[in-house]
Amino acid sequence: MRRIISLVIIVLLCASAVGCAAFSEPAGIETSASPTVSFSAPDPTPTPSPSPSPTPDDGRTTIAPGFYFKPLDDEIKARITGLSYPEDAQDNITYDDLNVVNILHYNFEGEICFGELIVAADLAPEVTEIFYQLYLAEYPLTSVILIDEFGGSEGDRASMTANNTSAFNYRLVAGTDKLSNHALGRAIDINPMMNPYVKGSHVSPKNGEPYADRSVIQPGMIDKNDLCYQLFTEHGWTWGGDWKSMKDYQHFEKE
Ligand SMILES: [Zn+2]
Repeated sequence: MRRIISLVIIVLLCASAVGCAAFSEPAGIETSASPTVSFSAPDPTPTPSPSPSPTPDDGRTTIAPGFYFKPLDDEIKARITGLSYPEDAQDNITYDDLNVVNILHYNFEGEICFGELIVAADLAPEVTEIFYQLYLAEYPLTSVILIDEFGGSEGDRASMTANNTSAFNYRLVAGTDKLSNHALGRAIDINPMMNPYVKGSHVSPKNGEPYADRSVIQPGMIDKNDLCYQLFTEHGWTWGGDWKSMKDYQHFEKE
């Protein structure tokens, strides 16, 4: 029964490319016909086994219901081209170098949301696994939406201001002519408004200023006791909060 409910949740969430659904308990499959989506809380233990099981249709590899990665198809190429993937990006990264990761996550209202990220193909399995572990722990993320929904590279600031978690974005490191690891799908920014970039008195995004003070850590803020920090560093990623000349608390990367 729980499996069926879980599948219904995923179908409902996937029907709208981006969406969240409140849940209440108890709820059964019969409630799915009502206009309000209700379902029981997910089982905190991972079922079925998260071992990868490829399915042939669109090249996806599923590690758990709602958690899979796959090559970029024509639909997603159309969504990113000219935005996070400008015409000149192909000199440094091809579509084949990237994968799209589909996940579920909790938001700060306790709703389960559909999310997607574009990352380097070789990092996609571990990124899917990390977000699966965050989901099992009900780790709050405001949204996990492609930066293209905010206008691509120009939308970077809007995405950060919206506290949106994202990865691939073909751009330079701010203030330099060096490609960012985001441009290669090798960096992820988590809850960026609550985990801002801080250099001296400069805080980005602007509405992240209250979170520049890291002496009080709330859920969704990253420090060394945080689950994000633990999961990413276990997989060999480095954290921008460990940098010396500036702090980028939202940022994890793996070269
Ligand atoms: Zn970053």
